[in-house]
Amino acid sequence: MAKQDDQFKRVVSHAKEYGFVVQSSEIYDGLSAVYDYTQNGTELKKNIRDYWWKSMVQLHENIVGIDSAIFMHPTTWKASGHIDAFNDPLIDNKDSKKRYRADVLIEDYAEKLFQKAQKEITKAAKRFGDTFDEEQYKTTNPRVIKYLTERKKVLQDMAMLLDKDDLAGVKALIEEKGIACPVSGSKNWTDVKQFNLMFGTKIGASADSAMDLYLRPETAQGIFVNFLNVQKSGRMKIPFGIAQTGKAFRNEIVARQFIFRMREFEQMEMQFFVRPGEQKKWYETWKERRLAWHLSLGLGKENYRFHKHEKLAHYADAAADIEFNFPFGFKELEGIHSRTNFDLSSHEEHSGRKLQYFDPELNESYVPYVVETSIGLDRMFLAVLSKSLQEETLENGTIRTVLRLPAVLAPIKAAILPLVKKDGLPDIAHKIIDDLKFDFNVTYDEKDAVGRRYRRQDAAGTPFCITVDHQTKDDNTVTLRNRDSMEQKRVGIKDLKNLINTEVSFANWLKKLE
Ligand code: ATP
Repeated sequence: MAKQDDQFKRVVSHAKEYGFVVQSSEIYDGLSAVYDYTQNGTELKKNIRDYWWKSMVQLHENIVGIDSAIFMHPTTWKASGHIDAFNDPLIDNKDSKKRYRADVLIEDYAEKLFQKAQKEITKAAKRFGDTFDEEQYKTTNPRVIKYLTERKKVLQDMAMLLDKDDLAGVKALIEEKGIACPVSGSKNWTDVKQFNLMFGTKIGASADSAMDLYLRPETAQGIFVNFLNVQKSGRMKIPFGIAQTGKAFRNEIVARQFIFRMREFEQMEMQFFVRPGEQKKWYETWKERRLAWHLSLGLGKENYRFHKHEKLAHYADAAADIEFNFPFGFKELEGIHSRTNFDLSSHEEHSGRKLQYFDPELNESYVPYVVETSIGLDRMFLAVLSKSLQEETLENGTIRTVLRLPAVLAPIKAAILPLVKKDGLPDIAHKIIDDLKFDFNVTYDEKDAVGRRYRRQDAAGTPFCITVDHQTKDDNTVTLRNRDSMEQKRVGIKDLKNLINTEVSFANWLKKLE
């Protein structure tokens, strides 16, 4: 755990030091759970967004993208159920005065049981070597069975209690399991209360005519209210999808995990409209496709797992999260939800407009069912940053900090470094930049010894360094250094574009998905 905490602290301080993420309004001591992306972070975030957008919209003939407004008519949120049901159960610890989400406290307890079982399994795997059968061990070892059964039961009990809105029962469950405040270690809890997460605001100049509004807590509703506009203007045939990225706002109860849980964040969502009865098939398809997207970035298969929801939201008939192994353990990164026809039907009811599709093959009209994929861009950023940040001991005993970002996502693709600041080398470096800048985000650096410049670029995640030296003047070659292998090779200036492009181009990475 201590090792995980250290890695998390390293990620947060690296993010600030190397121009990725800082606390918002830092000079005024910041605003809780609100963050700003600085120069490198903005590029990395844009590249993640583009990688998602291209994989959805560009690679699928039947998916189109929109950009709907953050403000929406207030009835939207009545229809979507957010006014009545977008609540989190909160609980306070009377000694530490810290506030928690009651469901998260219970989920963390369940995760500890899972980790205990995992520890037993890892120990046994070492003991038995090649003959080890994990599945058999899980179903026969009494200790592992006990941990896993208890984990399942506590999650099921919680789901049942939350479903019934039995908040006293949730508190009793926390007490029964002896769950203590992680800060004070105390078990002195208040009652559990429901808390609505939407931010309210007003639109209009005069007090009488002002209208109460909410900042959208998800981007999905902007897609639902535009379903017919897009279907008709694009002559879309079911099945088809509408994608959108944009800001969402939630007044989160607990905000202690950097950009994992923010009050203002960005989502990348896609709603896929299908025939009634076909939703389960598409739900499975999208679970697979989304996992493949994650795996294509090469952060390690072992860092992802599916978590099937025990407690379904009011709109869903199936739901699963893709969880990622963050520095603080496995947590939700993306949700894949089979949302039924709840949203469109409810908007029909509240707006009095028909939101139906005429299916020429069936010769009938219906309200389509929807499968949603919903990922937090900031959470994805944290997943990428935290797995990429590594420290390695080199042969000479020194420690190298390297940000092994997938090259397609790296903020800067190459740094051009003149070996010395004289003899015409900076001019050649600038000429190289002038040639490459139309294709890639590149940078120039002439300060300090070249070894130190390499280290700076390693820490910023730049996949290539190009060094211009005196030989360059004679034969138009430069040294191309690879961030990950630290290998250096002599290449012609004319070959740079191709060499870099092979490693960083969206096309080459996206082809892995086909
Ligand atoms: P959680 O259980 O962690 O609160 P959620 O189940 O409420 O998340 P969804 O409503 O399914 O999340 O939202 C879809 C995605 O949006 C999540 O998988 C997550 O990546 C992202 N997300 C949700 N809330 C936040 C937040 N406060 N900060 C950053 N990202 C968020």
